Amino acid sequence: MDESEGRPVGRRGFIRDAAVGAAAFAAPGKLMGSQDESHRHSHEHGHDHGHDHDHEHQDVPPDIALRVRALESVLVEKGMVDSAALDEIVDTYENRIGPRNGAEVVARAWVDSAYRERLLADGTAAIGELGHLGGQGEHMKVVANTPEVHNLVVCTLCSCYPWPTLGLPPVWYKSAPFRARAVIEPRAVLSEFGLDVPEDVEVRVWDSTAEIRYLVLPERPAGTEDMTEEELVGIVTRDSMIGVARVETPSGGEPGGDA
Ligand code: FE
Repeated sequence: MDESEGRPVGRRGFIRDAAVGAAAFAAPGKLMGSQDESHRHSHEHGHDHGHDHDHEHQDVPPDIALRVRALESVLVEKGMVDSAALDEIVDTYENRIGPRNGAEVVARAWVDSAYRERLLADGTAAIGELGHLGGQGEHMKVVANTPEVHNLVVCTLCSCYPWPTLGLPPVWYKSAPFRARAVIEPRAVLSEFGLDVPEDVEVRVWDSTAEIRYLVLPERPAGTEDMTEEELVGIVTRDSMIGVARVETPSGGEPGGDA
């Protein structure tokens, strides 16, 4: 089922996103059912870059979507919301600010050990060095995955998320089941994301707040030793910086086997 035909992107995507978030609140216990399925689907396509099918945003109950659209048109009609300004804001976070900012931070930390140290010591300052601070990301803490520790970020209270480094939060991040289960049974949740963390690896769950936002520094995958910083930026995914995925060695790039 593909409803994307003829549907404007941008602002609509944002509104859909909001609607799904609302739906998740209304229907707890559902996250890892259909939403997780669509999440996996997006994985099958590889990374998110430039992929516009937007599967994970499609589970909008039609009644909620309609209500949101009706509300929007009334607000626009009454002049309380300026469509152009709204489009501008959404475009900023959807297209110009996105996980790529976070990926730049990660790639820099992978190639520059001094930067990595600064990043882990004072995330806000080090992210600021790359110019990726801003609203919803004023106080950043970066936590590093290692062979012994895997980090997972959640906001149990609502949906706090580092916008300047990761863009808009994914639908599942805002869903009630993810928020609850991430702290109760993180390994099970990770496993449903396709990430099985070995028993001897500690899982640390970080609960975001309005005060502090977390970014996971994933492990640099094997076989990427010859990649440039720019190339590394391209393989870092949003999910890996939330902690629900690893960064994978690029396809065809078997460790040691380079093209
Ligand atoms: Fe929150």
